[in-house]
Amino acid sequence: MTSQLTPDICVIGAGSGGLSVAAAAAAFGVDVVLIEKAKMGGDCLNYGCVPSKAMIAAGKHAHAIAEAPAFGITAGEVKVNFRKVHDHVQSVIGAIAPNDSVERYRAMGVNVIQAEARFIDKNTVVAGDTEIRARRYVVATGSSAFVPPIPGLDDIDYLTNETLFERTRAPKHLIVIGGGPIGMEMAQAHRRLGAEVTVVEGARALGKDDPELAAIVLDNIRAEGVTILEGAKVTSVEKRGKTGVRVNYERDNGAGSVDGTDVLVAVGRLANVDGLGLDKAGVEHDRRGIKVGANLRSSNSRVYAIGDVAGGLQFTHVAGYHAGLVVQQILFRLPAKENRDIIPWVTFTDPELAHVGLTEDEASKRHGGRISVLRWPYAENDRAQAERRTTGLIKMVVDRKGRILGVSIAGAGAGEMINMWALAVTNGLRLKDVRGYVPPYPTMAEIGKRAAISYYSPLTRKPFVRGLVRFLRRFG
Ligand SMILES: Cc1cc2nc3c(=O)[nH]c(=O)nc-3n(C[C@H](O)[C@H](O)[C@H](O)COP(=O)(O)OP(=O)(O)OC[C@H]3O[C@@H](n4cnc5c(N)ncnc54)[C@H](O)[C@@H]3O)c2cc1C
Repeated sequence: MTSQLTPDICVIGAGSGGLSVAAAAAAFGVDVVLIEKAKMGGDCLNYGCVPSKAMIAAGKHAHAIAEAPAFGITAGEVKVNFRKVHDHVQSVIGAIAPNDSVERYRAMGVNVIQAEARFIDKNTVVAGDTEIRARRYVVATGSSAFVPPIPGLDDIDYLTNETLFERTRAPKHLIVIGGGPIGMEMAQAHRRLGAEVTVVEGARALGKDDPELAAIVLDNIRAEGVTILEGAKVTSVEKRGKTGVRVNYERDNGAGSVDGTDVLVAVGRLANVDGLGLDKAGVEHDRRGIKVGANLRSSNSRVYAIGDVAGGLQFTHVAGYHAGLVVQQILFRLPAKENRDIIPWVTFTDPELAHVGLTEDEASKRHGGRISVLRWPYAENDRAQAERRTTGLIKMVVDRKGRILGVSIAGAGAGEMINMWALAVTNGLRLKDVRGYVPPYPTMAEIGKRAAISYYSPLTRKPFVRGLVRFLRRFG
């Protein structure tokens, strides 16, 4: 028998975005239904951020042992037990899972339905044997790995982010198709965990980031033994013997191939719009996602879309940011608009690559070239020297009035450091605001202040003056 519900809000998808909307609605005593067809927590918890960062952490430990002799410490040969790495990754997921669980959300007052949801008309969603007619809908169905139609790919057991973390044996030679953030993070982690790794990228690896900073990261990953083939478009994949696989590609200078044992497909994401009945709901969409305005409302004014399915930047913190914007509109009837210029992002390679605001290129276009670019290298930072983490750079773009338009950092701890600059960009801070704050010594975050104050004294960009400044700072 079909039951009928008439909540204020119906959320489809219990990932980063949907969970945040449901929790906020319940906290304000609003009647909310949350529908999830698979695992609570969505991609981030089960197949994305959490397992990938746990695997990167394992790789870091292996690498630290290999680097230890430079500090006068020898720990012997690095041995990786990949099954235990798998167990570590799964136990991290397990430690976080209760936060996103059905039980926790029900205890908060959220009506959780475990079924696949679909619209049957502009006002109604069906999930299992429940029919829901809500005042507002929030679609938060996320995205899935895009698997391109490469001849031969379907004949092999290729990996995606949904299967990669199930492996209990290390790949001997992992071929990663796609040199974006996911591809590069996983390439480096697997290399550190003992695999041979080749990345095949059709254009430029880490191509969405500032090329100057991306190059620092890529050089380091190459130095660790990962082969990165750029401008190499995969043309086909073939099985080789019982366990082998060959990936054929074309580059400007001719065709080539690489032989390995496993293939990870990481060439981008497709919004999860199939099967949702969006046409019946009058919700415009395409493969990139549901079409929304800056207020995240779709062509059906009852329906909002947030997170990966909204077709913009695909990050967990963006899904959370979107959740806040729709909660503001639905619960408090206050206008809210997304501002993509304030969204930071981090690629968790080593060194990390972080960015917020406008890139040098974007800033130059928007401000007619009237910008200044400030840089400060990690090598000039005492803490970076002590930690032997001197590879890296901060790059800051400011307008004529010293307003901070964008910051990119490649280097150790960049993902932590970008927080302060996200605050600066969000609030339109100027360099004079940074000039007055005192960073504790010795911290790597000092490089940000050094870059900022170099604006006032172009001389400090000269090496001998930089040396004097360091001396005075330490002993003055
Ligand atoms: C390998 C990898 C690493 C990543 N690392 C990071 C990182 O370090 N930092 C970061 O910010 N982001 C990272 N991301 C991106 C991040 O995971 C996503 O941006 C985030 O999960 C998007 O949240 P969401 O709520 O839009 O979707 P999801 O979290 O994917 O949730 C969508 C949910 O909707 C459910 N669903 C779909 N259709 C239906 C339906 N019809 N009915 C009911 N339920 C449905 C799905 O089962 C899923 O649970 C990573 C992604 C990957 C793949």
